[in-house]
Amino acid sequence: MNEILNCTLCPRECGIDRGERVGVCGARDYVSVAKIMLHRWEEPCISGKNGSGAIFFSGCPLKCVYCQNKEISHTLTGEKMSVGELSSAMLSLQERGAHNINLVSPTQYAPFIREALDMVRGELKIPVVYNTGGYEKPSEIEKMSSYVDVFLTDIKYFSSELSKKYSLASDYFEMAIASLEKMLESAPECVFDENGMMQKGVILRHLVLPSHRDDSIKLLERVAERFDVSKFKLSLMSQYTPDFYDGEDKALRRKITTFEYQSVVDRAVELGYDGYIQEKTSAKRDFTPSFKGEIYEN
Ligand code: SF4
Repeated sequence: MNEILNCTLCPRECGIDRGERVGVCGARDYVSVAKIMLHRWEEPCISGKNGSGAIFFSGCPLKCVYCQNKEISHTLTGEKMSVGELSSAMLSLQERGAHNINLVSPTQYAPFIREALDMVRGELKIPVVYNTGGYEKPSEIEKMSSYVDVFLTDIKYFSSELSKKYSLASDYFEMAIASLEKMLESAPECVFDENGMMQKGVILRHLVLPSHRDDSIKLLERVAERFDVSKFKLSLMSQYTPDFYDGEDKALRRKITTFEYQSVVDRAVELGYDGYIQEKTSAKRDFTPSFKGEIYEN
């Protein structure tokens, strides 16, 4: 696969042969999957009653110091899967009642995923969700467009200083916003079925970090200046927990306060965003899937 021989799939553009070396994401020249499960803690229009058919991929182009999935995103914990096995896993999730196929951190495996989706074309009837940290190349999002129904994308920082400090990506906002533009071109309106499950559209996720509500507000303002916020849903998250952070930065060594979260929620409402607001009680380790044990989980 040419894309893997000289890998430039994400903005890191490592340009390496993944059969010989690993780049920032840690991925090799095969698909590695850490967990396959019916995931019930995504947004209600994604998880629904039965759960979202989540496939958690190993590795990640971002290296967020507080990542709650560090176990699989900062290492290659998981099992090697062929493209055929990946496509079978998608069909099996569909048979188990999943509302969608939720590709979690898919960027570094995009060409394999397209192959797997080609194999199940016609058989897979449920929407495909591209669940990303937002550090994407617009050209790669364009390639995924005909395969993806719902883009569930983070937008983590406005400040390049913060994105460099916490995720080693000073161009994060620039890349995330240019990719969001492509996602909105591909899914310009949100479409739901009769049960309120999203069939097409974009959900923009933002995790409010402790001590950085100003950055959250600036980010929401910039996005609202550039895009029509009625065309997508915002998912504001309060679930930051310091349990996953072991660094020295005092700013990240606590949960966010109600005041911090509420001030971001208030500004989002003023700016006309609509979507999902997470309960502050979700800031618990229990809400994170366990990546230990078998990769298949109910
Ligand atoms: S996907 Fe991985 S190897 Fe490829 S450019 Fe991005 S970080 Fe580098």
